Amino acid sequence: MFNPDTINRFQSVDTPFYYYDMGVLRQTLEACHNASAKYGFHVHYAMKANFNPKVLEMIQSFGFGADCVSGGEVKAAIEHGFSKTKVVFAGVGKSDREINLGLDADIFCFNVESVQELHIINDLAKAKNKTAGIAIRINPNVDAHTHHFITTGLDENKFGINTWQLNDVVEALRSCPNLQFLGIHFHIGSQITDMEVYKSLCIRVNEIQTWFEDHGLQVKVLNTGGGLGVDYYNPDTNTISDFESYFKVFKDFLNVKPGQEVHFELGRALVAQSASLISRVLYVKNGQKKNFLVLDAGMTELMRPMLYQAYHEIENLSRKSESESATHYDVVGPICESTDCFRKDVELPESFRGDLIAVRTAGAYGEVMASGYNLRDRAPSVYSEV
Ligand SMILES: *Cc1c(COP(=O)(O)O)cnc(C)c1O
Repeated sequence: MFNPDTINRFQSVDTPFYYYDMGVLRQTLEACHNASAKYGFHVHYAMKANFNPKVLEMIQSFGFGADCVSGGEVKAAIEHGFSKTKVVFAGVGKSDREINLGLDADIFCFNVESVQELHIINDLAKAKNKTAGIAIRINPNVDAHTHHFITTGLDENKFGINTWQLNDVVEALRSCPNLQFLGIHFHIGSQITDMEVYKSLCIRVNEIQTWFEDHGLQVKVLNTGGGLGVDYYNPDTNTISDFESYFKVFKDFLNVKPGQEVHFELGRALVAQSASLISRVLYVKNGQKKNFLVLDAGMTELMRPMLYQAYHEIENLSRKSESESATHYDVVGPICESTDCFRKDVELPESFRGDLIAVRTAGAYGEVMASGYNLRDRAPSVYSEV
């Protein structure tokens, strides 16, 4: 990702900034596109992972749809060229204003997360004399075996409708003439690398699909959500997620009927490896027990380590080639919070004020979670040529 020319170019840029390797992004999108097209699967990009305009434009150019979780994302998807026939809208708390925005835009589908929401969408659609396409987001009670902060498919999570409420769903659908039932939707969590988890999901989806058909509802769309993980430990040697294995699990275990469409909503796996957060060392504090590298980037630029105890590789780009004397540092940001630490006890070559530091695999849930806390300037984005 960083050849000497790139690092040279960084010397004249103010830090911190996000660096996008557009070549990595393109290769990742190609790999996903080829692996999914083989089976005729449809991929919707989960916009919340990264809504940088250049990133969106490249993703859209591959013909992917957009998975949105707010009215703002629905608007941005359409503005950046995603076809409205490929926009889906999920979220436990869609406001009336956001639902109306989706109805006005004639999006493909609302992924509905409660029985009450079905009635609200029906009422709002009726007022506009429209029919809303809907899928039922179901909580399959499949454990994603990932960090509990990013698990979403268990009965105890706030997302989706639990299976014991499905009779109420069928009843509501019968009484809502302005809804068109399209299918069933699932999303069980994020950063999932164990393919067995997806196999379990397929088995649940098959059972639930049968239940709907037994109750007289034809399921046109099976949407199994996203969650495919990336390798945060080896961004250079394992850059692209194993899309082949991922889609093959669904090909092998999902019971797809003739004419049915299978939809996916990938976020992280498409964008995570394409960006790094680049910052400079402001101060080196050598303590009795610990050494600190104080960077000019912190939780206001990249919050994942502080929010989910997430791991990111950290590199000193200024000392890469030297025969280094390894030192251990707690790599911290400048924000007035003790939690503002990228990682403790990081082994790095001895580092000095002004060194360029890269925090890797920052393309997903990075820039989008930036905040203005401490009244900091927003970090800009820098792009590779490709
Ligand atoms: C966040 C989200 C996704 C994408 O998750 P990733 O782990 O980034 O692939 C997909 N679907 C829904 C409904 C989401 O909320």
